Amino acid sequence: MTYIHDTIVKLQKTSPAQAEFYQAVEEVLDSLQPILETSEKYKKHAIIERIVEPERQIMFRVPWVDDQGNIQVNKGYRIEFNSALGPYKGGLRFHPSVNASIIKFLGFEQIFKNALTGLPIGGGKGGANFDPKGKSDGEIMRFCQSFINELYRHIGPTTDVPAGDIGVGAREIGYMFGQYKRLTGNYDGVFTGKSLLWGGSLVRKEATGYGCVYFAQYMLEAKDDSLAGKRCLVSGAGNVAIYTIEKLYQLGAVPVTCSDSSGTIYHEAGINLETLKELKEVRKVRLDEYVTAHPDAKFIPAAEYPADGHAVWRIPAQLAFPCATQNELTEADAQALVANGVIAVSEGANMPSTQDAVEVFLDARICYGPGKAANAGGVSTSQLEMAQNASMQRWSFEEVDEKLKVIMKNIFLSASETAAEFGEPHNLVLGANIAGFRKVADAMIEQGVV
Ligand code: NDP
Repeated sequence: MTYIHDTIVKLQKTSPAQAEFYQAVEEVLDSLQPILETSEKYKKHAIIERIVEPERQIMFRVPWVDDQGNIQVNKGYRIEFNSALGPYKGGLRFHPSVNASIIKFLGFEQIFKNALTGLPIGGGKGGANFDPKGKSDGEIMRFCQSFINELYRHIGPTTDVPAGDIGVGAREIGYMFGQYKRLTGNYDGVFTGKSLLWGGSLVRKEATGYGCVYFAQYMLEAKDDSLAGKRCLVSGAGNVAIYTIEKLYQLGAVPVTCSDSSGTIYHEAGINLETLKELKEVRKVRLDEYVTAHPDAKFIPAAEYPADGHAVWRIPAQLAFPCATQNELTEADAQALVANGVIAVSEGANMPSTQDAVEVFLDARICYGPGKAANAGGVSTSQLEMAQNASMQRWSFEEVDEKLKVIMKNIFLSASETAAEFGEPHNLVLGANIAGFRKVADAMIEQGVV
């Protein structure tokens, strides 16, 4: 379709050198073809041209002083992408790979993900090319304070509400909230993912991983199958991976892998969750230490991965949960998974499968839950945290978990019913993209040219 092609070519000229952003835009626009062909209104209102352009992009210097007294400088970002459905909502990522392309791809995905949840939240994302690994607590605090010295003027409980992502957990949110409060004098729900001691919501920490497993459960139930007894591959060893593993055990499945950037653990007997939490949440060390406690497990160093992919996806299993980072699952990985008999892939990470890998899953007709649907439990529970903060209430673990389950079920139904409406019932990429797009686009039309 030339309209879509022209939009992408224009984007490449006006926003040069943003490969991950083009990848995300192309993936969404390709699947919107059926609705763009049948509904003239989106073209008439220039929705595509408007939706690929962030409402606002904030880039800023983040200077801070390390423990040796040296001045360090990082780049900070907040992309306020689309506020048609509510205040900008999306996480902050602290990782050395962060750049404008990565934050824009994440922000763009967030628009449709947030729309799919059915909750009143717009899309945004931010972060910095700061590497928290090996930094002292004092360095992390000084970095977070400097980051907020600029960002505080752009955020607020009804305008833009950041949360965590890679490299940003409750500790970082605490330091950022403290500085925001000092600068503004406001004690309000400007961040989600807060500590339970001062305004955080129960289940928020677990929500993305739990939600990703609920999504897999709903995909399997639609095929009269279940999670019980299934061997599962999980990548990552951070927040999303840990709580994916926890929920898999609760629902009777057996997760046999996890990974970090140093390598992959394969534990045939099942990953020991207690050890994993101790290593990653408490001691914050590399994953190879896992085999000290469990000599029957195997550590595959990253240096020994196949040249065309990731060792974790070459292990035979029935279900796969990519929970680390973008483009961590290649076409060759997808082919290996399918050849080994995988029946479902549910993405905890954002855009973990390359576009070629997605094609392999769709062609093989396995259940494939794209990240913007399958990992939406995190942002949904963030919105539940906002609701509790605004009404000065605190809901029980069971209450929030129950709401999370209902939201994930509705996301699954919305994506699968929309996929069926457009004649491709197995294609949840198409279903999720069109269902999310329709909500945002119709709101944009009603709000005029702004
Ligand atoms: P964490 O920082 O807690 O964990 C990230 C994990 O992925 C770590 O094990 C990390 O290993 C690994 N990882 C990160 N980057 C790379 C890389 N380039 N190569 C190999 N391994 C890598 O982050 P989260 O668990 O919060 O986030 C994981 C994914 O889930 C991201 O894509 C994020 O955008 C997405 N997501 C997170 C949500 C949330 O609520 N937290 C919500 C929705 C999506 P190492 O420590 O060695 O770098």
